[in-house]
Amino acid sequence: MKVPNPMGCRQCGIDHRVHAIQAGSGGTHTWEQPTEQQIKERMQTRRTEKTR
Ligand SMILES: [Zn+2]
Repeated sequence: MKVPNPMGCRQCGIDHRVHAIQAGSGGTHTWEQPTEQQIKERMQTRRTEKTR
């Protein structure tokens, strides 16, 4: 199960450090900081996945 990265790109969830590499091939956008809401939701999901 893939857990979301809280600080991943707003659009695709890829981490900033590897965004240029991973989204580079078909990348139509640059890394964007996720919203507070997205960060919270991802952290919540991550917590849920860990306890499963
Ligand atoms: Zn992205």
